[in-house]
Amino acid sequence: MKKPSILLIYTGGTIGMRRDANGTLVPFDFNAMYEEIPSIKRLNVDIDVVTMTPIDSSNVTPQRWVELAELIRDNYRRFDGFVVLHGTDTMSYTASALSFMLENLAKPVILTGSQIPMGILRTDGRENLITALEIAGAMRDVHPVVPEVALYFQNRLFRGNRTTKQSAEELSAFSSYNYPALAEVGVNIAYNHAAIAHPVDDGGELRIATSLSEGVVVIKLFPGIGEGILRAILSVDGLKGVVLETYGSGNAPTSEWFISALREAIARGIVVMNVTQCAGGSVSMGLYETGVGLQSIGVVSGHDMTTEAAVTKLMYLLGGERSPEERRRLLLEPIKGEFTPDDVA
Ligand code: ASP
Repeated sequence: MKKPSILLIYTGGTIGMRRDANGTLVPFDFNAMYEEIPSIKRLNVDIDVVTMTPIDSSNVTPQRWVELAELIRDNYRRFDGFVVLHGTDTMSYTASALSFMLENLAKPVILTGSQIPMGILRTDGRENLITALEIAGAMRDVHPVVPEVALYFQNRLFRGNRTTKQSAEELSAFSSYNYPALAEVGVNIAYNHAAIAHPVDDGGELRIATSLSEGVVVIKLFPGIGEGILRAILSVDGLKGVVLETYGSGNAPTSEWFISALREAIARGIVVMNVTQCAGGSVSMGLYETGVGLQSIGVVSGHDMTTEAAVTKLMYLLGGERSPEERRRLLLEPIKGEFTPDDVA
């Protein structure tokens, strides 16, 4: 049987660094990875490598997501799966954005990176890379095991748009607080098949959305947030969507000025989505008076979405050409498993 073919896309980040003879950190050449990591040859996959201009992922912009989506689209028919090597700092944003932008995806797109550079003996990058390649090539009968955008890090595979970088220190840098791991990796790779999404339209063409709105902002509540500043942000030209990071289960101040500032923004057509500042758990705006106020003025529940997923979902929804009804429907329902609807929570 033909080996699965994987396109390895290197975008930058710590994983792509090694020390040269003088001890300076320099970019790792993934085209020469067979010499550096000979064990990769033993994997049952054929690998092609593409290197984008390597950047620290703090410099990622939506333009980068468009380039990545185009690269995947242009190579979609030729490869059975894709592994994207990415800096950890914004990896969850990229994974979330790609999950929405790659419409009708039916092949694995696995993001990974490392906390310790590839060229350092104790690197976590080697295992992350090898296992991500294995997962991207994993087949069950003739179908890929993980036909969605996922993130592999330190023995766990997560749905990409459920992840968050939770530690700048631990090798286990990512968590998915509100959705189970898609696979746990020990001696074997134990897939949680029930948690993996399967495309409805298997085998159809991949479409990519390339028009992302620039009019999205995150506002994190804190005791003492001022009326002047809030109103100034809400009246910025071109603002289309606000991710409001609230307290606990979606709670916010009940002060008249606060509610009116949001009500007026919503009346001007701005979408306000409520996500919680807590790492885990869900927004439930009917629970306390402090949440009911937001619900009554038309703030949309982000349920148990991460901020990364909420921001990129708004960029995606407010960017493309859609009827207001279609936009509303996609706003209220999970598009790519990014939140748990109340009836199954
Ligand atoms: N600053 C780096 C980046 O995100 C960190 C890393 O790769 O882990 O590109």
